[in-house]
Amino acid sequence: MCAITRRFYPGNFWHITDLHWDPTYNLTDNPTRVCASSGRRPAANAGAFGDYACDSPWLLINSSVYAMKDILPDPDFIVWTGDDTPHVPNTDLGEEAVLHIISNLTHIIRQVFPNTKVYPALGNHDYHPKSQLPAGPTYMYNQIAEMWQDWLDPESRETFKKGGYYTEKLLNRTGFRMLALNTNLYYDQNKLNQDMDDPAGQFSWADQVLTEAANNKEKVYIIGHVPPGVFEKKRNKPWFTPKFNKIYLGLIQKHHSVILGQFFGHHHTDSFRMFYNSEGSPISTVFLSPGVTPWKTTLPGVKDGANNPGIRVLEYDTHTLLVKDVVTYYLNLTHANAAGGRWEKEYRLTESFRLPDASPASMHQLLERIANDRCYLQKYYEFNSVSYDLTECNSDCRVNHVCAAREVDFDRYEHCLEKEGAAAVHGGLLAVLSVAVSLVMANR
Ligand SMILES: [Zn+2]
Ligand SMILES: [Zn+2]
Repeated sequence: MCAITRRFYPGNFWHITDLHWDPTYNLTDNPTRVCASSGRRPAANAGAFGDYACDSPWLLINSSVYAMKDILPDPDFIVWTGDDTPHVPNTDLGEEAVLHIISNLTHIIRQVFPNTKVYPALGNHDYHPKSQLPAGPTYMYNQIAEMWQDWLDPESRETFKKGGYYTEKLLNRTGFRMLALNTNLYYDQNKLNQDMDDPAGQFSWADQVLTEAANNKEKVYIIGHVPPGVFEKKRNKPWFTPKFNKIYLGLIQKHHSVILGQFFGHHHTDSFRMFYNSEGSPISTVFLSPGVTPWKTTLPGVKDGANNPGIRVLEYDTHTLLVKDVVTYYLNLTHANAAGGRWEKEYRLTESFRLPDASPASMHQLLERIANDRCYLQKYYEFNSVSYDLTECNSDCRVNHVCAAREVDFDRYEHCLEKEGAAAVHGGLLAVLSVAVSLVMANR
């Protein structure tokens, strides 16, 4: 008998997201007037590459796309999961302003990677008014589909015009498929679709695509912007409307055997989400890529929620689509402003966390290590903000991150908070008790 060794057919692709270009960014002596996206917050350390209170200046956008070209000039393809415009009031933008920004970013990506297939997905900021993406044809879907005509197949353009989503064979290869979803339709900030059961028919369409994929023995990657589940930097912050979150979870559980990876943005942070079957076995992972914008979130309850600009390479097996590794590159914004923009490798998943690959089983193993080992938790926490926030992740922080990654379902997330929170309290009490006991002993 000889051991069966499976050959690995290496491939790689870029995932970039949340570039959020702020065309108003300018260096001036008045820190509240550096950029519109800071609101009234001062951009205290504004430099050529940006400020943590602001969205990206053009130099940062340019630098990130050229860094991709330097680091990995010939990827198999690029996944670009949206959010191109600055965080400013709707009154500061408009349909044409939003289209102009998307067009500029489309142009630079196409110019730097003229021969690379790009799979774009819409973000909630790629629309006017923001987050109000409709469940039917509109002028903006139409314009964006035309803007992306070099990248999208004719059939993709047709479904995109109807609902902002599409599917096509991955790199035209039989047996491999890309499914790009418009999950902005499920975002709880989207006021247009709350009463609908299946906005733009996307769920039934995706169910059909995945059923046919199984029949045709295809393997599928899913991309989108707003992810299912909850935010990890704040307790109880879901994105999807609850009914849509449930349907999405059901879709993945039903079709997990053909889904080899899910890639989303929107958080601006580096994290992941696990999916399990009814027996509790890991079946799928959402990889959440960090954003290019360093913009400090204004979400109430998030303390110092900025990040360093990040971009990411996914390494995969081109015959199985198994995700083998994740390599994240970043720009330390403070250093960049002081000494010029040098993008560096931040970490390689398998190396930093001692994993064999990035399969659901390995990502589950990672989650358990983060949940149970302070060193792993801290390492994960620092990568979460792309090495921006290096403070300690305390017990509340641990519970928020662990439960967000473990439970996409909102009810199960609640239970996780109770269970893990209780464990933290219990652990804390034990520590207090043992101190008390040792004090008593010392007084004897
Ligand atoms: Zn964003
Ligand atoms: Zn977003």
